[in-house]
Amino acid sequence: MYFTNITGGEPFIRTDLKEIVRELYKLSDRIVISTNGFFTDRILDLCKEFPQIGIRISIEGLEKTNNEIRGLNDGYQRGYTTLKKLREMGMKDVGFGMTVQDKNAPDLVPLYNISNEMGMEFATASLHNSFYFVESKNIIHDRPMVAKNFEDLVNELLKSNSPKKWFRAYFNHGLINYIYGQKRLLPCDMSFDTFFIDPYGDVMPCNGTKDKEVMGNLNRQTWDELWNSPEAEVVRKKVRCCNRNCWMIGSVSPAMHKYICTPLLWVAKHKVKSLLGMKYSMFENPICCDYRDGKVSKADLDKLSTCDLNAEINDGLSDDSKEALKGKRGEDIVNADVVEQGYEATKAETNCDIDIN
Ligand code: SF4
Repeated sequence: MYFTNITGGEPFIRTDLKEIVRELYKLSDRIVISTNGFFTDRILDLCKEFPQIGIRISIEGLEKTNNEIRGLNDGYQRGYTTLKKLREMGMKDVGFGMTVQDKNAPDLVPLYNISNEMGMEFATASLHNSFYFVESKNIIHDRPMVAKNFEDLVNELLKSNSPKKWFRAYFNHGLINYIYGQKRLLPCDMSFDTFFIDPYGDVMPCNGTKDKEVMGNLNRQTWDELWNSPEAEVVRKKVRCCNRNCWMIGSVSPAMHKYICTPLLWVAKHKVKSLLGMKYSMFENPICCDYRDGKVSKADLDKLSTCDLNAEINDGLSDDSKEALKGKRGEDIVNADVVEQGYEATKAETNCDIDIN
């Protein structure tokens, strides 16, 4: 694999994360962990062993906005402190990750500027609904306001001298297209060359589908059996007709590499325009003009989104995971796992067997 993203929930809750990363590095060229940055010591400790790893700390805006959205009183300070410490220890691939919504859109460019001053990466996303997020009611209400903030960010990114940032500008241009519920700018090939594995061993095309679409399970199948199974083929057929039009970096980054001509042409055109002092405008997206001119209504756009106020949220558990949970509560499994993890860690340190009872 050329790239692996470890996400959550919160990955650093797991005390065996180091072992997972160690195993993954045998299979993957690049690894990035998305985290809320709360467990500073655990993050620093992992980075000491893997200085090449990427860390993205989710910060949802400036201090007040972030803490309100995340529900953590000192969330911003902890995330910011972790990032600073990572920088001080010489970590190169570290940065912010921000999920943009109505509440925090005005903080988008100010947060980008902070990350720039710190010499960090700045990754963006917007609201999605899926079984994985256990949410179906996420929606952007004031699309022109949010799009205007993305437009400002695109112009900031195009001003820079970094080609990576110019392609980020294209990604953010795609986010404007996404929040207006339009067709993806690039095809989605999830399940063909990219996949998602959950903690139960279920393999899926992505984490953006409405219901969990399982290709197979790694606890009972080998990778080759799973990847070439009839179940995997059924899922691939569904992906080919998928109309959710997600625009998350996990599915867009591979598409940008694969269909490089489209982003490349966009970048070339807009970088030249930027050098000539001409700014990118959100109204390059025809739908933004149609909405401004009253040709489509807010209700029309809401219908195009994946927001479904009546949806029944699937709990994300496959038959395999339901079987594993039979007669147990989730907490029992987690507690047993924590005891097991503690046992394994102590065993590794002392290199001898210990009776955990
Ligand atoms: S558009 Fe792609 S990433 Fe989104 S749900 Fe469909 S298959 Fe998954």
